Amino acid sequence: MKRDTGYSTMAEQQKQEEKLWDAMKITARVLGTGLLVFTALANFGFWYLQSIWDASGHFWQTTWLKLYYLLEGEEWTIFFLGTALVPALAFWGFNGILMVADVTGKPTFITRYRIQLGKNNPVDTKKLLQAVYTALCNQFFISLPMFVPMFYLMKWWGNTFSKELPTFRWFLVELSIFTLVEEILFYYTHRLVHLPLLYKHIHKKHHEWTAPIGVVSIYAHPVEHILSNTLPVMTGPMIMGSHIVSIAAWFSLALVTTSISHCGYHLPFLPSPEFHDFHHLKFNQCYGVLGVLDYLHGTDRVFRQSKAYQRHRVLLSLTPLSESIPEVPGRAE
Ligand SMILES: [Zn+2]
Ligand SMILES: [Zn+2]
Repeated sequence: MKRDTGYSTMAEQQKQEEKLWDAMKITARVLGTGLLVFTALANFGFWYLQSIWDASGHFWQTTWLKLYYLLEGEEWTIFFLGTALVPALAFWGFNGILMVADVTGKPTFITRYRIQLGKNNPVDTKKLLQAVYTALCNQFFISLPMFVPMFYLMKWWGNTFSKELPTFRWFLVELSIFTLVEEILFYYTHRLVHLPLLYKHIHKKHHEWTAPIGVVSIYAHPVEHILSNTLPVMTGPMIMGSHIVSIAAWFSLALVTTSISHCGYHLPFLPSPEFHDFHHLKFNQCYGVLGVLDYLHGTDRVFRQSKAYQRHRVLLSLTPLSESIPEVPGRAE
C-alpha cells in the first residue's frame, strides 16, 4: 500500500511538472507570437508612414533647399522665419478664425460646441482687445529676444541649418521628446506660479479668464511667459540640437495646441480642451499638458469625478458634448 501511494504521488508530481512545462511552453509560444505580430504591425505602421513621407519627402527636401538658397543661407533670417514668423502666422491664423466665432457667435455650429454654456456669448470686446495686445507684446518683447541666445546655442550645438532635412522617423522621435520635456517643465513651473505669493503677483493675470478663449493661451505676465510658456517649448529643441524646420513645426504645433486647450469649444476631430478649461474653472486641478504628472501627483482627482472628465474621455462625438453630458443634469434644456 505504502509503495503504491509513493508511486502514485510520484506519478502525480511528474504529471504536474509536465503540466507546468506545457503551460510554460504555451505561454512562451503565445508571448513569442504576440511579440512577432506586434513587431510586424509596428514595422508596418512605420513603413506605411515612412512611405507616405518618402513620397512627399522629396518635395519637402526640394522646397527647403529652394528656400535656403533664396535666403542665401542667411542663418539669422532663416532662424527668425522658423522660430518667430511661421509659428506666429500659425497662431494668429488659427486664433483669427476662433475670434470671429467668439465675437460674432457665428458660425452657430461652432458656438454650439462651447464647453461653459452661456459664457463669452459673445465675448467682451474690450477684454478681448486687451488679451490680443498682451499676447502681441509677449511675442514681440519676450519671445523674440529669447530667440537670440537660442540662436547662438543652436549654432554651436545643433544641426539647425543643415541643408539636409531630418528623416521622418527622427522627427517623430524628437516630437515625443519635446512633448515630454514640455509636460515636465510646464507642470512644475505652473505649480510654482500657483504658490500664493507668485499667484498674486504673476499668475493671477492669466486666470482672469475663468472661461478662456484661444488667444488667452499667451495672455500672461512677462515672467510667466518666460517661465511657463516659452522655456518649456524651447528646451526640447535646445537639448536635441534640432533642425530649424523641426523647430518651426514644433513651435507652430505647440502654439496651435495651447490655443485649442484654451479655446472653450470642444470640437469634433480636435483634441479635447476639457482638461485645461477645467483648470481655469477650478484653479487647483489639471496643471499639466498631457495629464500624466497630474495623475501621478493626484492633482486631477476632482476632475476625474466631473462631467468635464466624462466629456474629455469621449474620443469622437459629432454632436455637442455639453448637450449630451451637461454640467448639471437638465441644464441643456
Ligand atoms: Zn491657461
Ligand atoms: Zn494656472
